[in-house]
Amino acid sequence: MALSGLEIYKQLPKTNCKDCGFPTCLAFAMKMAAGQVPLDKCPHVTAEAKAALESASRPPIQLVTIGTDANEVKIGNETQLYRHEEKFYRPTAVAVRVSDALGEAAIAQRADAIGKLCFERVGTQIKVNLVAVCNESGDAGKFEQAAKLAAEKSGLACVLISATAGNLAKAAAVLSGQRPLLYISEASQAEAAAAVAKDNGCPLAVRADGVEAFAELTPKLNSAGVEELILDPGTRGLKETLEALTLIRRLALKNFRAVGYPAIAFSTAEDPTMQAIEASTFIAKYAGVVVTDAIQPWQMLPILTTRQDIYVDPQKPVAVEPKLNPIGEVGADSPVLVTTNFSLSYYSVEGEVEASRVPTYILSVDTEGTSVLTAWASDKFNAETITQAMKKSAIEEKVSHRQLVLPGLVAVLSAGVEDESGWTVQIGPKEASGIPSYLKKQSQA
Ligand code: SF4
Repeated sequence: MALSGLEIYKQLPKTNCKDCGFPTCLAFAMKMAAGQVPLDKCPHVTAEAKAALESASRPPIQLVTIGTDANEVKIGNETQLYRHEEKFYRPTAVAVRVSDALGEAAIAQRADAIGKLCFERVGTQIKVNLVAVCNESGDAGKFEQAAKLAAEKSGLACVLISATAGNLAKAAAVLSGQRPLLYISEASQAEAAAAVAKDNGCPLAVRADGVEAFAELTPKLNSAGVEELILDPGTRGLKETLEALTLIRRLALKNFRAVGYPAIAFSTAEDPTMQAIEASTFIAKYAGVVVTDAIQPWQMLPILTTRQDIYVDPQKPVAVEPKLNPIGEVGADSPVLVTTNFSLSYYSVEGEVEASRVPTYILSVDTEGTSVLTAWASDKFNAETITQAMKKSAIEEKVSHRQLVLPGLVAVLSAGVEDESGWTVQIGPKEASGIPSYLKKQSQA
């Protein structure tokens, strides 16, 4: 929780010596509260005040890092209960489970498939972050072997899940330097697992039944030298887990330090569709890590799409660069489609143009990232803005015809665009899905 200027001021020497470059301690405190100056600019602050300020300004939810280098994923450090109040910052890490009770070939095959769960959506790659290796065999050797194989074949950072701290120690040792997340499912083993996490420099996930149990457990784990914790409230199933995750987030944001850590949730439904629904729900509220069996692309795409949507800034429309985009081997006869620079609109149009295999120019007009109808309603997509975009793109030098295709939803703009640009306007389909048949028909005409 951010400190106010007055709370910071109370901890300062109050001598107004100006050594920090500000005329008074209060002025310095106000700037620091606004995040515009660091505490170390005051050379006279005492060690006690420094410790108090640093502890009080610690984020309500601990930042936790899993994996290293290209596989590194950071979770936590969130400050809001409702994303519209600011935004959610660190997307949930999605992990897909593999059991060490499978044979070697099956583990390799599954891990390889998990590593390939990567999609492109609205111009961005969305992918699974982690492979979760479960010590279902209970055997340390099999667990160790499975961890090594899963990390190699998936190319991802690992979550190591076991009921035994000793088994976690063996598997963590084979992934030395890769910073896997260690998850101890047996609460009585948590302190032993903390020693393993500390020795290997890994974050630790612990399971406990309820908030009261965490209030006792997490201070002990901190004392054992592990700060990067992840909490499993022990619930399974949609309703109970959603309630537990919400309670943890609420309490953490009220600075209840014992639960000030990201949470981990497991989708355990047997039905494949419910697996995806559970995982998506836990992403929306408020899991830092979700572990699932949903390995099919049709299951994973909606999970990752939910994550992408939840973690964009709700106050900033997702926009693409407004410009002329040639799709395919365009020539002087290629049609010219117009749309806005709202990324979902643009990529829907681009995907359908690619599917049509008709080389086409797409002119995306700067509407500040708003969709066709929204931009039209707010007068950002009109005859003037479209004509300006045409001129800026120099489209008249690239094609020999003078025909422009407007989205069917804004057919009402056609007369104005014709007057303003001097081009002939054709009315395209209302939905992007109608573009392939429209373009094919036009190219045959
Ligand atoms: Fe106050 Fe420290 Fe600035 Fe001096 S350097 S004015 S003590 S905040």
